[in-house]
Amino acid sequence: MKIQEGLTSIRGVGEKTAKLFARLHISNVGELLEHYPRDYEKMEAPVSVSALTPGRVCAVKAAVIGTPQITRVRSLVIGNVQAGDATGLFRMTFFGMPYLRSILKPGSVHVFRGLCQAEQAGKAQRASLGVPAPGGLQPARPLRMEQPAIFSAEDYAAIQDTLQPKYALTKGLTNRLMIRTVRSALEGLDERMLEEFLPEALRKEYDLIPWLEAVRRIHCPADVGELAAARRRLSFNEFLAFFLGLARLKGENGERKVTRPMQAVPDTGRLLKGLPYRLTDAQLRVWKQIEEDMAKETAMNRLVQGDVGSGKTILAFLALLMCAANGRQGCLMAPTEVLAAQHFEALNRLCEEQGLCIRPVLLTGSTPAGEKKRIYRAVASGEYNVIVGTHALIQEKVEYRDLALVVTDEQHRFGVRQRESLADKGEGTHVLVMSATPIPRTLAIVLYGDLNVSILDEMPVGRLPIKNCVVGTAWRPKAYSFIADQVRAGHQAYVICPMVEEGEMDGLENVLDYAKKLEAALPEGIRIAVLHGRMKSAQKNEIMEAFAAGKTDVLVSTTVIEVGINVPNATVMMVENAERFGLAQLHQLRGRVGRGSAQSYCMFISSNENEAVMKRLKILNDSNDGFFIANEDLKLRGPGDLFGVRQSGELDFRIGDIYRDSDLLLKASALAERIVSGDPGRKDRQLAGLYRWEEEHLDPVDFRSI
Ligand code: ADP
Ligand code: MG
Repeated sequence: MKIQEGLTSIRGVGEKTAKLFARLHISNVGELLEHYPRDYEKMEAPVSVSALTPGRVCAVKAAVIGTPQITRVRSLVIGNVQAGDATGLFRMTFFGMPYLRSILKPGSVHVFRGLCQAEQAGKAQRASLGVPAPGGLQPARPLRMEQPAIFSAEDYAAIQDTLQPKYALTKGLTNRLMIRTVRSALEGLDERMLEEFLPEALRKEYDLIPWLEAVRRIHCPADVGELAAARRRLSFNEFLAFFLGLARLKGENGERKVTRPMQAVPDTGRLLKGLPYRLTDAQLRVWKQIEEDMAKETAMNRLVQGDVGSGKTILAFLALLMCAANGRQGCLMAPTEVLAAQHFEALNRLCEEQGLCIRPVLLTGSTPAGEKKRIYRAVASGEYNVIVGTHALIQEKVEYRDLALVVTDEQHRFGVRQRESLADKGEGTHVLVMSATPIPRTLAIVLYGDLNVSILDEMPVGRLPIKNCVVGTAWRPKAYSFIADQVRAGHQAYVICPMVEEGEMDGLENVLDYAKKLEAALPEGIRIAVLHGRMKSAQKNEIMEAFAAGKTDVLVSTTVIEVGINVPNATVMMVENAERFGLAQLHQLRGRVGRGSAQSYCMFISSNENEAVMKRLKILNDSNDGFFIANEDLKLRGPGDLFGVRQSGELDFRIGDIYRDSDLLLKASALAERIVSGDPGRKDRQLAGLYRWEEEHLDPVDFRSI
């Protein structure tokens, strides 16, 4: 077995299993080992039914009472069953498990593990009617579990008291199979395959465990302490790879000469006059900076940082207009197709309304092949002067006639390698990066060492503050009737679930099933659409356009709509399993509403009502300032809280966390400087392993910088 070898080189993995992994873009051993758990669960000893606590994940050993009742609501199979022991009864609900009856035979004993919830009053009575509890006991507090995991008593005993990893999964690939495959790969792993590259002295100085050990422990930690040590080491590797790339870029990018400087143009003033609003002072100030940069003889490298809704898009459009009016080409890149399509529509509308000299074109993965070819030719001949699209396409395939400006929206990690490849496309190309992720100044300096930073610290006037609530799942019926009211009033709503389909992660809501549940819960006539990242791009665009045009009322979506999307008529954002998201990310999601003049609302539904969890979420109630929220989030996350929440997508390292690991980040940055500039001849024997690692792992990027 080797790191670069296919999965079938792992003992016990056949072609069929390898195909399943391919759906998660895991095709070799290295990628499998880099598929870090998303979370860990402590498998506590099973309790008796009377000790079940609402709002907590519990394991309980109990006997099935009666035969599971199967009902169907539209295409959704719902199973209800009771179980109990000598101390009481509880009810369980399963979705989409038609074989339930063959697993849960009357009288059979299992360990059930899942989130315990208090029963709604009406249902509890029905559930306990007719079936006498063992020993004649009635449950003191009626309880239920939704979709608990089912174990045999022996299977559960084997994993009791351990920390079990939970992986991102896909249909047909269970967590159990994932664990088995990873363990099998770890058994075949040795030092020759992951050779330590950090000198011992540096490892000691930075308090890092060896690489090989970290890879083992991240998948099978004995306890929280081991997990923290593993995460620290792997985060360091990731940061170091990032900074090495950045340091190189800085070397090459330092002062890029512009051969034909641009000039400020009167078109800008005309566009501003024609807008239905006036720019805020902050927007005007930042625009002046951009305009000056673009008229200089050295290329612009500017980051515009501004909270969601602060109005960054118009600045991008102004820059593109100046570029076009100077007879040059510019491009605007977005991280998702959905956002690219939306920017294109908005720009197109503006051009039509105001007769601008911009001739825009949209280029994404869903553009048909023949059309793409035509566009490539038209861009090469200069027919189009603004190209809007997703990163990959614009970078790799397009030949420009005269590229002078690259704007990237909502992605700072775009930077290093991508900017390198774009710098080749035009001489002294100006670079403008737009971002909503709040980063403390000290970190911004190292993360964007090569960028000048402008801050948009003012919101457009006339916006009503968004009304928020942080509530438990029992609040759902109210949320649904609220959504129905808003739709009746002509508005629209988003509902966000963390998962796409059933089975990816126990106990988390998924878009596909949720849409069905919602259809049953909302009044007839409300048009519900579904959106997630696994759809074909053309389909995604269609759904998003239909929603933006008001043809659908409720959009049930994953976080694909998290960045940038602008549908001012949407006034409700409901987030399921809010406890599973980072606050910064929830803040981004909230930023999708409150974009028009109507009052907007945000409902964060937590399926864990534990005090600490609720306290964290309630920070969102107190503030609408992304920077404040990110800082509070950091303060509240304890050392054991490692993977429970994902931070905002754009600055997401795979494992490192720029806020929590800021000390490591600074160390990795310093080490990268030392490697790149401190020793040009690469003679430092102490760093020999590092030089080798850099060469092997950074170029080409096959084993993505573990
Ligand atoms: P973001 O900074 O999150 O990218 P957008 O650029 O999408 O924000 O702007 C959000 C909304 O605010 C858009 O509908 C935009 O037309 C509007 N907008 C931008 N600037 C102003 C302004 N100065 N006054 C009023 N509305 C504005
Ligand atoms: Mg935006």
